Amino acid sequence: MVKIEKFDFTPILGWSITRYDMFTACKRQYYYQYYAKYDPEFKRAKIDTLKKLTSIPLEIGNIVHDTISVVLKRLLKSRSRIDPQRFDAFVEEMAGTNCRSKTFSEVYYNEMVSVGPADILSGINECLKAFLGSSRFEWIKDQATAGKHDWLIEPPGYGEARINGLKVYCKVDFLFVIDRKIIILDWKTGKRNKEKHKKQLFGYCTWSAHHLKASAADINAAIAYLRPSYEEVNLSPSVDDLKSFNARIRVETEEMNVFCSDVQENIPNDKASFPMIPQSAVCHYCNFKELCNRI
Ligand code: SF4
Repeated sequence: MVKIEKFDFTPILGWSITRYDMFTACKRQYYYQYYAKYDPEFKRAKIDTLKKLTSIPLEIGNIVHDTISVVLKRLLKSRSRIDPQRFDAFVEEMAGTNCRSKTFSEVYYNEMVSVGPADILSGINECLKAFLGSSRFEWIKDQATAGKHDWLIEPPGYGEARINGLKVYCKVDFLFVIDRKIIILDWKTGKRNKEKHKKQLFGYCTWSAHHLKASAADINAAIAYLRPSYEEVNLSPSVDDLKSFNARIRVETEEMNVFCSDVQENIPNDKASFPMIPQSAVCHYCNFKELCNRI
């Protein structure tokens, strides 16, 4: 059984790829996302509402991940054939629930009148069809179920780990151990971005190395693209890759810490130290554009 170490709460910031990406994209966006409670200008509730906005691509990704997780968890109990009608009904219901319960940025910012299941189901079904029809899924059913007690499917929590004493968050999609080898798969429903995805995967490998006391040689990691068709790209790191990744995390954490007046308590500098970027495509896709008058 894979055991995950638990950590006591500490306020110090934890590196994650999402956090550092936002930090490099726009300091103001980063401030709203991570330091809303310190904002002297806008109410916390307003910023929180914007933080929670979803989008069509994001929701396609969420539902595909959740469904694959359900399919894999079902395999832990049964290898019987999936009934296509019940499967479609399950996915449609999840799409309906999410569309009703969440606010889409496309609607909030008046690009669409509403978002319903019809707007997301074709993307979801394209990805799920690719996954269920893949040789990887057949292989998981036929071979990997033998070691199913060592599967980790979307583990709960935020994927906290430590790299040389630094707090990091790297949440793995699917990990299993077969013949003493750790196999990590990360499903992708969007565009390919090799450098970004490689960094993400190295984060998962580091997480596994920490929690499973493994070395790079024990890990096989791949990105599984689900659109337009299933394709895996193996990005397993070498020992040197993980070493330089770890050094990079230290540098990036220190860069973010410079924006804290109290690093241990993770208290930010004044809002003015987190400038807006010039109007760009980043603003177009930013949940907080209303606050910057970039609508
Ligand atoms: S709208 Fe643009 S400037 Fe404002 S927070 Fe978002 S990305 Fe930054």
